[in-house]
Amino acid sequence: MDQIYDVFIIGGGAAATSAAMTLKNRGKTVAVAANRYETSGLYKAEKITNYPGLPPMSGAEMSELFHRQLTETGAVMIEGRALSVLPMDDSFGIAVGSDYYMAKSVIITAGITREKLYPGESEFLGRGVSYCATCDGMLYRGKTVAVVGGGEEAVHDADFLEGIGCSVLRFPKNGRYEITGNEKAEKLVFAGEEHTVDGVFIIKDTVSVTQLVPGLTYENGGILVDRHMATAVPGVFAAGDCTGKPLQLAKAVGEGNIAALSACDYIDRKN
Ligand SMILES: Cc1cc2nc3c(=O)[nH]c(=O)nc-3n(C[C@H](O)[C@H](O)[C@H](O)COP(=O)(O)OP(=O)(O)OC[C@H]3O[C@@H](n4cnc5c(N)ncnc54)[C@H](O)[C@@H]3O)c2cc1C
Repeated sequence: MDQIYDVFIIGGGAAATSAAMTLKNRGKTVAVAANRYETSGLYKAEKITNYPGLPPMSGAEMSELFHRQLTETGAVMIEGRALSVLPMDDSFGIAVGSDYYMAKSVIITAGITREKLYPGESEFLGRGVSYCATCDGMLYRGKTVAVVGGGEEAVHDADFLEGIGCSVLRFPKNGRYEITGNEKAEKLVFAGEEHTVDGVFIIKDTVSVTQLVPGLTYENGGILVDRHMATAVPGVFAAGDCTGKPLQLAKAVGEGNIAALSACDYIDRKN
């Protein structure tokens, strides 16, 4: 973790691709943390007919094109979920799974989160609720924990927790959950049944941006930005669907470009 990147981009879609291309043209060092592109909403789109410069094509084809261009920028590609961004004196610490990165500036291009928070999830985050077994698992050694989620990551995390001596209750991703407790999470309610637990690990594809970066402000469900794509946190910029409607590729690409130029200005002024 010696390197401090100029810019750390969260998300790997259209906005991220546009931002990374501009940043590399400006000679900046860039790291990108992104989920697999096949999991994005765009990948499922039947046909895109309103993106200039390209003929009509399926969302899967367009996602592949963006992914190839993003990779070809030479940005350091990190596959995984960014979990948190911590502002420090003159830089930011970014946790991706159990790894940690540093950057002078951050661009959030996380799209929109379609997954809703479970009741109690936000309230008990850091007090019994965690998104990362390898980061926080040791705190629950010898204790009973629930792992909520589907897919390989959830299985891996549940196995990891068992391996370090936790008693693990496994729950599917979809269901009606509630986390209750007092000072910390104490119970997971699933399908009307209460399970007493010491911790709840929630494994989702994305982390709500409200959890990702402390201090952001919001308007109409999107991250509030100015014309330079600057958020309320100096050094953090946002672009694409995560800043709100219209949810369109051309807007995401334009905003990614502006966010990159603003991040360059921010870094150059600091230097
Ligand atoms: C079915 C469908 C059809 C559409 N049709 C059209 C159309 O015809 N024309 C048009 O202009 N637009 C269309 N759109 C909208 C278009 O797909 C979006 O506007 C565009 O993809 C937004 O780009 P983005 O980069 O902001 O976000 P996204 O493309 O959503 O990319 C964000 C990426 O970041 C990842 N991510 C999120 N959080 C994290 C995290 N914490 N760590 C790591 N990675 C993270 C996500 O998994 C995702 O892959 C359609 C969308 C859908 C779902």
